[in-house]
Amino acid sequence: MIGKSSTQAPHTGATDRDQSWLELALCAQTGSAFFFPEPGSSVREAKQICLACEGRAACLEYALTNDERFGVWGGLSEKERDRLRRGPAPRGYEGT
Ligand code: SF4
Repeated sequence: MIGKSSTQAPHTGATDRDQSWLELALCAQTGSAFFFPEPGSSVREAKQICLACEGRAACLEYALTNDERFGVWGGLSEKERDRLRRGPAPRGYEGT
């Protein structure tokens, strides 16, 4: 967790130059609890929100570029992002 209150978008701490994707962030409407759950908790709700987010691809790119290790970014969990770094893209991200 990166110290966000439940009323802030989970990823407002992003520091890349083009932050226009943050304006599209659906997580800004839900709070951080879904996106930075306690260890062992489900991330299913967060991933469902991400599927409808227009900033998803940029969010994931930011997380991969900046080696974000915790939470759901761009619809992928920590483990899924780690797998993406090491191998083929997961379903839905082919060609992104
Ligand atoms: S893809 Fe998910 S985590 Fe990223 S900005 Fe959108 S809702 Fe938030």
